[in-house]
Amino acid sequence: MSSTPSGTLYIISAPSGAGKTSLVRALLDALPQVRVSVSHTTRPMRPGEVDGVNYHFVSREDFVQRLERNEFLEYAEVFGNLYGTSQLWLEQNLAQGQDLILEIDWQGAQQVRHLLPHAQSIFILPPSQEALRQRLTNRGQDADEVIEQRMQEAVSEMSHYVEYDYLVINDDFSHALEDIKAIFRSNRLKQSVQQQRFNALLQQLLL
Ligand code: 5GP
Repeated sequence: MSSTPSGTLYIISAPSGAGKTSLVRALLDALPQVRVSVSHTTRPMRPGEVDGVNYHFVSREDFVQRLERNEFLEYAEVFGNLYGTSQLWLEQNLAQGQDLILEIDWQGAQQVRHLLPHAQSIFILPPSQEALRQRLTNRGQDADEVIEQRMQEAVSEMSHYVEYDYLVINDDFSHALEDIKAIFRSNRLKQSVQQQRFNALLQQLLL
């Protein structure tokens, strides 16, 4: 996976209810050149979700077959469901110079960091445990015991924040969005990235 030019790979993780999906959606509206990977999952579809848009919803059998064919760059079991990132999609898009986002959990983030050490990782945190519980309850899609289980899982997920390059606190949505945009912008200004983009200019300047 050493094609040039290569896009930047961003990993975005957050506990369930921290607002990651809405932030990523707003980020994609603001930065249309960035693409987000659509994972495969064995989780049942939630109301409002669309197959092929939110996830590729597959059976466990289908997922395991893909796993055996090494189709996933990374995969993890979260809340009893399997989730995985397509290796082919990622390779093709990175080779085209695309900036890409993986919305994955900490287990997947560890695997991707190991395989692609240049990946930039962002962890989104809620402003408090109460706010997180409130957001999980407001969704109204899960039973009480599922919410309690997700709160416990959230605390365990959040304990991995130290492994990430950037931390964004989602207290105010627009501030959090600006923070994430700033991360993308500063990465685009990195010398190695600018060198690819302004190769001709740099050569001229040094004549
Ligand atoms: P949800 O089912 O609420 O959409 O996602 C549950 C968790 O699975 C979230 O933390 C989400 O980031 C994570 N997740 C979604 N897709 C993937 C994936 O492809 N790989 C990994 N490792 N985690 C994923």
